[in-house]
Amino acid sequence: MTNFEFFNPTKIVFGTETIAKLDQLVPANARVMILLGGESARKNGTVAEVRAALGSREVHEFNGIEPNPTYETLMQAVEIIRAEKLDFLLAVGGGSVIDGTKFIAAAVPFAGEPWDILTTFGQTITSALPFGTVLTLPATGSEMNHGAVITQKATHTKLPFMNPLVFPQFSILDPSKTFTLPTRQIANGVVDAFVHTVEQYLTYPVNGMVQDRYAEGLLNILIEIGPKVLANPQDYDLRANLMWAATQALNGLIGAGVPQDWSTHMIGHELTALFDIDHARTLAIVLPANLVLRSESKREKLLQYADRVWHITAGTEEERIAAAINKTREFFEAMGIKTRLADYDLGAAVIDTVIAKLEAHGMTALGERQDVTLAMSRQILENSL
Ligand code: NAP
Ligand code: FE
Repeated sequence: MTNFEFFNPTKIVFGTETIAKLDQLVPANARVMILLGGESARKNGTVAEVRAALGSREVHEFNGIEPNPTYETLMQAVEIIRAEKLDFLLAVGGGSVIDGTKFIAAAVPFAGEPWDILTTFGQTITSALPFGTVLTLPATGSEMNHGAVITQKATHTKLPFMNPLVFPQFSILDPSKTFTLPTRQIANGVVDAFVHTVEQYLTYPVNGMVQDRYAEGLLNILIEIGPKVLANPQDYDLRANLMWAATQALNGLIGAGVPQDWSTHMIGHELTALFDIDHARTLAIVLPANLVLRSESKREKLLQYADRVWHITAGTEEERIAAAINKTREFFEAMGIKTRLADYDLGAAVIDTVIAKLEAHGMTALGERQDVTLAMSRQILENSL
């Protein structure tokens, strides 16, 4: 295992009827800005519950943070929060609203042009407004981590940033708030959480035995309950387990002391920014092709993955690895998520554009060994046609 520091200050409040606890979690004298996406949280009653719990506090609302939150929209919220001198943010929504809130929290006190937060991957942040979240979509882990991904619409640029100052103070996870999710978003959430786990597990062995078994446990639970959640949309326990698994897939624990890949995410971000494909769908396109191309450098972990996650024991090493990657693709397809660029009406003609964007964003040495060059990203995209 490699040396590591682990720090995660986010308090998790999990279960039904927990939104009422906002009264204890948000400072009594706070001047609050609630950040929202489209209409979903209002339609399913979550906003009303949140407002009731906040009681007599001064509460403002900002609506309209879109999926794959944009800098352009978020800066409107920044202006209002600065003008009104609000001092506490509350994200109510999925990963997009939470990521957007992290950017706003850092941008409000930021001296200079806040887009620099993205171009420096968060290193220039020196302070941030405090915030909490009410999660409505299990997927990203953003509710318990210090990362966010923001898109500049004008330039089709989607970049991540990280900084310990943007850990949520608390996150309320009420699985019953996810009952209104459309099938497509449930499937997206399962696949995003699965790929988060894979990006921290399918690298090269460093004897992180605890991390490996933990990651395999999360992958196994996602494989087991993913299709069940789709088939039983009103089952509370399935929702609760999916929610807790997705949070743990990216709250720092499984990635501490082990190599991390993230090349699938970085290539996927370009596909979303250019062609507006859902985040998880881009991962389902890129991951199988990525694993095939790099199966030699990931050989030992792929064999372990085949054995412990997919229980594949027959055949040569090559056959077991190929079977495990096929199982991965079949799992995504069984969740209703297509895994080829052609399924999204994209052909070889788009690859140059994607590669140019990766180059412009400095994504030229990706992966756990930083050996995923632009030429390899090109091959991955070609393999995913
Ligand atoms: P999302 O973009 O937050 O939401 C997708 C859709 O689901 C929205 O249209 C939203 O509708 C709807 N929705 C949310 N909750 C709902 C509910 N309870 N009932 C009905 N509809 C609901 O999806 P996400 O997958 O959570 O977030 C994706 C973003 O997170 C991407 O930008 C991705 O890059 C990023 N991401 C971040 C991290 C991280 O660590 N920070 C990791 C992976 C991905 P409304 O708009 O109407 O609410
Ligand atoms: Fe993700």
